[in-house]
Amino acid sequence: MCVAVPVPLRRTFDYSVPTGITMPAIGARVRVPFGPRTLIGIVVDGPNGPVEMAKLRPLTEVLDAGPLLPDELFELLQWAAGYYHHPIGEVFDAALPGQIRRGEPPARFEPVYWRVTDTVATTAKRRAPRQQAALELLQSRGGTASAAALADAGFERRVLRALLDKGFIEQVRAPIGVLTGEPATIVLNAEQQRACDEICEDLVRFKCVLLDGVTGSGKTEVYLRCIEAALRDGGQALVLIPEIGLTPQTLARFVARFGAVEAYHSGLSEGRRAEVWQACRTGRTRVLIGTRSAIFVPFQKLALVTVDEEHDGSFKQQDGFRYSARDLAVKRCQQLSIPLVLGSATPSLESLRNAGLGRYRHLPLTRRAGIAQVPKTRVIDLRGQRLRDGLSDELIHAIREQISRGNQVLVYINRRGFSPAYLCAGCGWNAECPHCDSRATLHQRPPGLRCHHCGWQAPLPQTCPACGRAELLPVGTGTQRGETAIRELLPGIDVLRIDRDVSRSAVRLEAQLERIQTGAPAVLVGTQMLAKGHHFPAVTLVAVVNADAGLFSADFKAPEHTAQLIVQVAGRAGRAERPGEVWIQTYNPDNPLLTTLVEKGYPGFARTELAAREQAALPPFRAMALIRAEGASVDAAHQCLSELMAPLRGRSDLELWGPVPAPMARRADRHRLQSVLIGDRGALHRGLATALSSIADRRYTGVRWSIDVDPYDMI
Ligand code: ADP
Ligand code: ZN
Ligand code: ZN
Repeated sequence: MCVAVPVPLRRTFDYSVPTGITMPAIGARVRVPFGPRTLIGIVVDGPNGPVEMAKLRPLTEVLDAGPLLPDELFELLQWAAGYYHHPIGEVFDAALPGQIRRGEPPARFEPVYWRVTDTVATTAKRRAPRQQAALELLQSRGGTASAAALADAGFERRVLRALLDKGFIEQVRAPIGVLTGEPATIVLNAEQQRACDEICEDLVRFKCVLLDGVTGSGKTEVYLRCIEAALRDGGQALVLIPEIGLTPQTLARFVARFGAVEAYHSGLSEGRRAEVWQACRTGRTRVLIGTRSAIFVPFQKLALVTVDEEHDGSFKQQDGFRYSARDLAVKRCQQLSIPLVLGSATPSLESLRNAGLGRYRHLPLTRRAGIAQVPKTRVIDLRGQRLRDGLSDELIHAIREQISRGNQVLVYINRRGFSPAYLCAGCGWNAECPHCDSRATLHQRPPGLRCHHCGWQAPLPQTCPACGRAELLPVGTGTQRGETAIRELLPGIDVLRIDRDVSRSAVRLEAQLERIQTGAPAVLVGTQMLAKGHHFPAVTLVAVVNADAGLFSADFKAPEHTAQLIVQVAGRAGRAERPGEVWIQTYNPDNPLLTTLVEKGYPGFARTELAAREQAALPPFRAMALIRAEGASVDAAHQCLSELMAPLRGRSDLELWGPVPAPMARRADRHRLQSVLIGDRGALHRGLATALSSIADRRYTGVRWSIDVDPYDMI
């Protein structure tokens, strides 16, 4: 038996099956001895070529009577291991929930559901508030919810027990998966209708549709309709969303429409993850909304996949097994012969190119749904202006005016903390992280210097460590500074900050979002967390405090990502009946990226940028892989990369750059180098395979290296 074992080696291992143990099925989990340890692996094949059975170690135990995963998913994972050149055992490991990985039987995670009985409708008398709340939660989910979902919402067993005793709820185990939501009431506009028709015309054939719709154009409504169609003959649907996009609002919208919806993301407990995984695997859950890793959830009858905000970087895993959930969705839908919908207001250049080549069907939604209008954009030239904590007088005036009219304003600042730099006006010293090639960020609450790359913290120096003068100044504006400044400018007005420091507390984040939803006048200050997916109907002005950071970067993808970010933040303005405006502050008002974006919008920008990429023969016109190495010394990392790349030197079908220092050459005291491999897809894969086979399992002490196929960025 050939077994994929969770170890960082690009190969599988042979084991014999001792007498008395039934031959395991391909795809079953087995317990095997590995060195001095016992590991759980997956049977991927019969024996690796002719082997002498007597020489093999026997496996210890077979954990599954049949394959653990559906064939299609099993094949997808094997394909992914090849495509990303990642060890197969680690790929399986990344794809399975923790408890399944550790050998628990899936049946243990058969979820228990509670259902509201008919008795409730006929008894209107007052009930204990917790019991009432539990009933309301159940009713809001169409009458049924899993015990785990109720536990997640904070209802103790005692409350459910009391309701059970009164006969108001009952436990159900049978597969439910019934659709209990409310049917759609919105009348689709012509573009939405056309998109739905195209997607749903044939649900049993692969096609990939790029739903290219400006923010607020009703893409989600299109997903909902297509899912409705896909569920009609017992199908299931998978909705992938960016990490930050799973707001209670989003989930609520799907639950209201379908009832049998579950969420899958890193915030769930391990047990809950296994439960949701099992519920999809057995067909109980009809609609799954999840982040990146949900692409690995098994389904009984997957009928449609949608990827919302397909351009978003969070679909790409940035360490370990560096897969793209969006790209794997394409492969998975192909295997299953089902449609895939990729939606975005700012599609990635690779998807636009695929659409241009006719591989994807390009369906634009050019108008905002309902009565909302696309916001007007204005560029503020900061040159020669006196700023107050990064804000120009004009902008301050505009914020005041919108607030006085009872509207909300969103102020986008690309850095969290108080200021991205802290320097001495006397001698020019500036605070740096001692462990990284990076400036330290000044934080005010709690006060101190911090490194956002390695977590280093230090108390705030009062005098300059270099010259001793007390002339230290915060330079630049982070979210905390923006918040403080606006509070001073607008006393008595709510100023709500949203960034990673706030979102560490889910409760606090949710409270902030709820206050925004009341629509009362407020200023929202935040990082890109604010840019994604939110619907803020009362926001009429969006201000980009400083657009310059993204304009000058060594990363060839930075212009694309900057443009997407600006357009996405801008898209938060004027989403309801109130028209919106977008103000962009910059010291580079003539920057071609910015002017193209403002004058021609994202489609015009994308055309220009694609032409530039084609000229430079960069992705998506050729395939790319980044090989990174980091070590305690530059030499060690350099040696590792050089040896890895050596067999590829002088090849005519591949271009090879490097090794060169990474854009941040030192992080957390590790020296980082990278090489880039670029060429056509086939040559790239052959090249990587050659490099890997020559290096085999050679070890470089203290060096970690990795391969990133189709990197999201060059950082
Ligand atoms: P997107 O996903 O493109 O940002 P949504 O689907 O969230 O857009 O739609 C934005 C808003 O417009 C939502 O409040 C939605 O209910 C509403 N909406 C969508 N389609 C229509 C329509 N055809 N008529 C009226 N309102 C619509
Ligand atoms: Zn100094
Ligand atoms: Zn650091």
